[in-house]
Amino acid sequence: MKTSVIGFPRIGLHRELKFALESFFRGETSPQDLLSTGHALRERHWLQQQASGIDLIPVGDFSLYDNMLDTACLLGAVPSRYRALDLSPLDTYFAMARGYQRANGDVRALSMKKWFDTNYHYLVPELEDTTCFHLHADRLKQEITEAALLRLKSKAVVIGPYTFLRLAHYTGTKTIRDFARTIIPVYQELLAELGQTSLEWLALDEPILATDSTPEELAVFREIYQALLQEKHGLKILCQTYFGDVRDSYDILTSQLSFDGLGLDFVAGKQNLALLQEKGIPGNITLFAGVINGRNIWRNHYRKTLDLIHDLQRHTDQLVLSTSCSLLHVPMSLETETTLASGILKHFAFANEKLQELNDLKRLTALYDPDHEQLLQQNDALFNGTRYQANPAVQQKIASLTSINFKRMPRRAVRERIQRELFQLPVLPTTTIGSFPQTAEVRKNRADYKHKRITPKQYIRQNKQFIADCIQLQEKLGLDVLVHGEFERNDMVEYFGEHLDGCLFTSNGWVQSYGSRCVKPPVIWGDISRRSPITVKWSVYAQSLTQRFVKGMLTGPVTILNWSFPREDISLKESAFQIALAIREEVLDLEQHGIRIIQIDEAALREKLPLHHADWYPEYLDWAIAAFRLASSGVRPETQIHTHMCYSEFQDIIYDIDAMDADVITFESARSDLSLIDTLRAVNFQTQTGPGIYDIHSPRIPSSKEIEHSILRILDKLPLNKVWVNPDCGLKTRRNDEATPSLKHMITAVKHLRQKLAEAAQ
Ligand code: GLN
Ligand code: ZN
Repeated sequence: MKTSVIGFPRIGLHRELKFALESFFRGETSPQDLLSTGHALRERHWLQQQASGIDLIPVGDFSLYDNMLDTACLLGAVPSRYRALDLSPLDTYFAMARGYQRANGDVRALSMKKWFDTNYHYLVPELEDTTCFHLHADRLKQEITEAALLRLKSKAVVIGPYTFLRLAHYTGTKTIRDFARTIIPVYQELLAELGQTSLEWLALDEPILATDSTPEELAVFREIYQALLQEKHGLKILCQTYFGDVRDSYDILTSQLSFDGLGLDFVAGKQNLALLQEKGIPGNITLFAGVINGRNIWRNHYRKTLDLIHDLQRHTDQLVLSTSCSLLHVPMSLETETTLASGILKHFAFANEKLQELNDLKRLTALYDPDHEQLLQQNDALFNGTRYQANPAVQQKIASLTSINFKRMPRRAVRERIQRELFQLPVLPTTTIGSFPQTAEVRKNRADYKHKRITPKQYIRQNKQFIADCIQLQEKLGLDVLVHGEFERNDMVEYFGEHLDGCLFTSNGWVQSYGSRCVKPPVIWGDISRRSPITVKWSVYAQSLTQRFVKGMLTGPVTILNWSFPREDISLKESAFQIALAIREEVLDLEQHGIRIIQIDEAALREKLPLHHADWYPEYLDWAIAAFRLASSGVRPETQIHTHMCYSEFQDIIYDIDAMDADVITFESARSDLSLIDTLRAVNFQTQTGPGIYDIHSPRIPSSKEIEHSILRILDKLPLNKVWVNPDCGLKTRRNDEATPSLKHMITAVKHLRQKLAEAAQ
């Protein structure tokens, strides 16, 4: 049986690609330097896969920045604003990725979106009415040549036309139908060109098939591939899906089109096995079975996977063992993990170790191998006995939860009256989302503390100074509800992870988030509990400096879970509830120490929404919303709970957000032109709302006129007493000379409006 990998991390064991990109962006290195780093990384990663015995090694999965961007360039889908710059192909590529600065106005980058339900971001291709596809396959062909020189057993990988078109943004009047017609000849040309190489397989990645499709969309899919598969130029064409099951398109894939291979994810694709069992698969289609989880870091349990493989073999003898998705979503190798104990690390498998697992499974499926039993027993040992750091007290608490623990009392309207009376905030109360600029001094203080260059005392003194300055600045600006600034936090999830028992941190477990940016997700290893108060001291100190209210600032359970590597031995729901209990304790502690307003950020709540709508509630929202309520509902009526969410596309879960039963929600909306407001109005949204009034992701300082205009637009749609005014996310990525004037303009706008309102009332 052969083995195949869908894609491999490209950032490098020591994040070489990140550093090469960043020095290139700073102008310190030449394009040649960057390209040769890329070349060296590709080669190293291929050889790694070769050494592990992988039979079908991906070529074309490497990217200097992003695969969707690569595909746009492959197809010549370069929007006119970049073509007008008349740059070299490489500079055009990075102009699309990052924008381009020039004297007569900047050219903005393509926008970025989450890649399905992962924490990776892709660049959204833009299709203009004038876009005319042309094949530019030089880069891909060069990589195929590189691989051939290494005598690699490779398969070419390209994002498929249907996923490309479904994820693209259409700027004019033309639609996916129009572009489907013109994209076909370009992929036909690609097949013709690749047919001249020695490649056997071409994988066209179509992950969008793991989401819902309308009949019209599926018709487009069928139309494209009917045309494309007519002439394969000697290639075998694999339709590679991942991240979920293909319940809408299984029939089309297996019986209406002449694919040579079908890649199905048997880890995240819950219904794929049942589809196969029920409907079968024609003998001339090779099944690429995704059995090694490309999204999590735990070792594979071979006996279980062999059971699955045997199930699959009942339906086909054309089987290739594969990763469930690209290994891009896990760190590179355990080789550089030096801090965690070997008793823990033996349970982990990063990308390199997953290659080994594929090879082990291949051996185990061979008819006879004298080492089978030993290999299986060694692997079984990892799953026997108590693997996790168990905490009976936590398990006990989870077991005894009842509906009371999820319900805030009294109901929101009553709380709102009580809080209004007590807080006496002006109309259009102003606040920020939490973090203030992370200046070089702020970061240095944390780094010095971490590396023991300063004592804990010195660290605390310095941090208190930052807090004091921050409070003073906010008072001076005239904000109504203040924050302490989050100077103690590197990252909103890592900080809490570090303070919770049951979470582990790798030393080098970097995963690409976008371009040169990587994140190092915490690992949920055991039952989660709070060792001791986490934020209370900072919040209490900040509150002691001012008469105004200072918000306590926490990260919510769903976001902590979604940005970590979760356990697989218990459900996500159970993990979420454990984290929620820890956060609940922190909430109650803050309340007890006199903090009157507590914000629980759920920045990532939307992002793990199941790809099929039918799964939203049973598989996710039912427990995700409950977890937030568990964390937040223990407080007194007079304590005000805020929450914050990033990414503004909540239209489809707006009732669920209201059902979180927070008192106030702030969210990102500046970039989406406040379109959410119409939805809030349409559903008669009950939570008080602070729609982000300006975009903190841009260095641009908005004028007070412009902000006033935005507030007026909001007031056109929402009742005055439900509206808060705030930036659209934390200020930590901005400089002080950007954040301060922007806030000043925001306050000026609000004061002016309040005055106008007062005059109108007289
Ligand atoms: N409170 C966090 C901050 O201000 C929220 C960050 C986020 O939403 N991503 O930085
Ligand atoms: Zn945010």
